[in-house]
Amino acid sequence: MLKHSNTTLEKKLLQNPLCVNIETVLKNLSFSKKRTKQMNLFLCSMIVIIIFILEFILFLTGGVSSYIHLMYIPIILAVFLFGTPCGMLTALFAGLLVGPILPSNIQKGIMQEPHTWILRIVMFVVVVLFDGLLISFIKKNNDLENRNAYLDIITGYPNFNKFKFDLNECINEGLNKTFSIMIFELENFETISRYVDHKTGQQAFTTLLHRAKEYFSSNAIYTISSNKFIVVFSKYTTQDAYNLAKNFITLTKAPFYINGIPIAIVVKCGADNFSLHNNNIISIIEKLGKALDQAHTSSTDIMFYNNELAEHSKKYYHTLVSIYQGIHNNTFRLVYQPKVRLRDNKLIGVEVLLRWNDDSYRNFPISEVIKIAEDAEFINEITKWVIRNSISQLKTWQDQGLEINIAINLSSKDLMDNTVLEYTKECINLYKINPRFLEFELTERSIIHDENRVFEILKEFQTLGIKVSLDDYGTGHNSLVYLVKSIFTFNYLKIDKLFTDSIMDENTKILLDGIIKAAHGLGIEVIAEGVETIEQLHILETIGCDIIQGYYYSKPLPPKELEGFILNYSESVF
Ligand code: C2E
Ligand code: CA
Ligand code: CA
Repeated sequence: MLKHSNTTLEKKLLQNPLCVNIETVLKNLSFSKKRTKQMNLFLCSMIVIIIFILEFILFLTGGVSSYIHLMYIPIILAVFLFGTPCGMLTALFAGLLVGPILPSNIQKGIMQEPHTWILRIVMFVVVVLFDGLLISFIKKNNDLENRNAYLDIITGYPNFNKFKFDLNECINEGLNKTFSIMIFELENFETISRYVDHKTGQQAFTTLLHRAKEYFSSNAIYTISSNKFIVVFSKYTTQDAYNLAKNFITLTKAPFYINGIPIAIVVKCGADNFSLHNNNIISIIEKLGKALDQAHTSSTDIMFYNNELAEHSKKYYHTLVSIYQGIHNNTFRLVYQPKVRLRDNKLIGVEVLLRWNDDSYRNFPISEVIKIAEDAEFINEITKWVIRNSISQLKTWQDQGLEINIAINLSSKDLMDNTVLEYTKECINLYKINPRFLEFELTERSIIHDENRVFEILKEFQTLGIKVSLDDYGTGHNSLVYLVKSIFTFNYLKIDKLFTDSIMDENTKILLDGIIKAAHGLGIEVIAEGVETIEQLHILETIGCDIIQGYYYSKPLPPKELEGFILNYSESVF
């Protein structure tokens, strides 16, 4: 049923990618509403009635008088409503009615001289001609303006205004029909424009539009931005429209040539079925946009609007905005979890952990906050907030005579450039602290991008005197590899809580024993995370673990409580 000669279409497009037939497109546009037959009959009758009423008035007022000039009204109306030929007929008809059959003075029985009424008819005709010219001039200008307002300047296809206009017409007419409407996007338009040139990007999009025009034949197509167009499938069932769109996207995957350059395009499509009688234009556009977003995130070519996904995205977006605002409206705070060195039982430092106290997001896991901020690419902002606030806290503690190290978590996107490094230097200078009190923890995930660059930045941290730990050790893919990197050596290795949890298991114990020995051989100290019981602590002690962190000593604490903890701890140890 849906047959298309792709090879001829292809050939045509390759030869002349910009073959827009503007005239064909214009012909398809209809701006003036068509009057019904009944409406025409009514208007025609009104004109005739007006003429007879005026004739009657002239008879009542005693013959030809200045009222005769009122006859121009129905004549001008006729030209305006039905054009010059009809105006001509009306002029003749009215001229004859107020001509030979109307006396010049009824009381005295004086008839009009023939030259008087003939001249009057000529005057009527002249007014018709003049009026006709004026009206056609105004209409032409109006049409041109409408066309400019409804056509996309670059592609020559009907634009978004026309889409809104047409859809509103259907909605206003209460058309009880369901349409599949699809929005197509040339996803790599920006890439083509950037890496080839802008003109080629435009040509690629116009070529895509021509293909769509041929492929979707009689269904209406509208350009709605520099890389998106909409197709209204009024002539197909949903399934046919879907199949057609799917085949169309498959066809577009084959690269084609523009000015001798091979161009590969990527097309995404968002779709929905709309029953026009209970929809408004804004909700249609919104749903199409969301469906397109869903096509992007789900990595499929075509996605029909899914309400659940849309609700989920909406919630996700609200959370994302709240997190971003949290950086500025004090909904973030920091807590500190002590680390104890087993050799001398000394509390040597704390890990800085972020907390989010937003009333609408109680118990929202901080690891989720970090992930959302990473995905939305503003994790740098959060990291900087943590760095500044924890260094400021460190300064306060130092001023109180409390010497403590702080370990700050870095996320995977923090080391893609050296902005975090530079910011840390600024804070060190601002608060005048010694960098040896600072430590950064990063997981293996942070090293996936440009490994050498990451190690260069880490080396710079160490040159400043800052220590660097490999966090969540054992949960990544390259744990061992990173330990033996010749250009960089971590100061600490943090064994993940997963291992601590199963430390009572003999195999885990043997494995950890080996890891700790290897780390010591490389000059790296080992920290065990998530230690909760004395039994775990004893085993870790026997296999040579250096530092312990976990609920066994303390949960992460706010600054004041940590101060109390440190005081109690020193008294109990010494
Ligand atoms: P992490 O860096 O591995 O931090 C240790 C996590 O284990 C913390 O969870 C801590 O509260 C928890 N923990 C410590 N000891 C115990 C224990 O004995 N038992 C149990 N059950 N849990 C323990 P938290 O604070 O929920 O943080 C989760 C993760 O979120 C962190 O894992 C880290 O990856 C990330 N995170 C937290 N704060 C920051 C931050 O400021 N920046 C970045 N980039 N990530 C952060
Ligand atoms: Ca950590
Ligand atoms: Ca960890």
